[in-house]
Amino acid sequence: MRVITDVDRCVGAGQCVLTEPSVFDQREEDGTVLLLTDEVRGETAERVREATHLCPAQALSTSD
Ligand code: SF4
Repeated sequence: MRVITDVDRCVGAGQCVLTEPSVFDQREEDGTVLLLTDEVRGETAERVREATHLCPAQALSTSD
């Protein structure tokens, strides 16, 4: 599964990092989302799906 971020929408809330820190980080400068990998599988993919639902700015999406 591919992970897609829309940095323009991101408000730096950090929910994605709390949910899956192996995939998401936050930029030092402004706290916006930083993608560590854009290909995920298995349980990691499940948590990324959860993060897309939790993101308050709808800045995350996925594609198969
Ligand atoms: S949860 Fe959404 S708004 Fe918050 S840092 Fe992650 S992508 Fe940005």
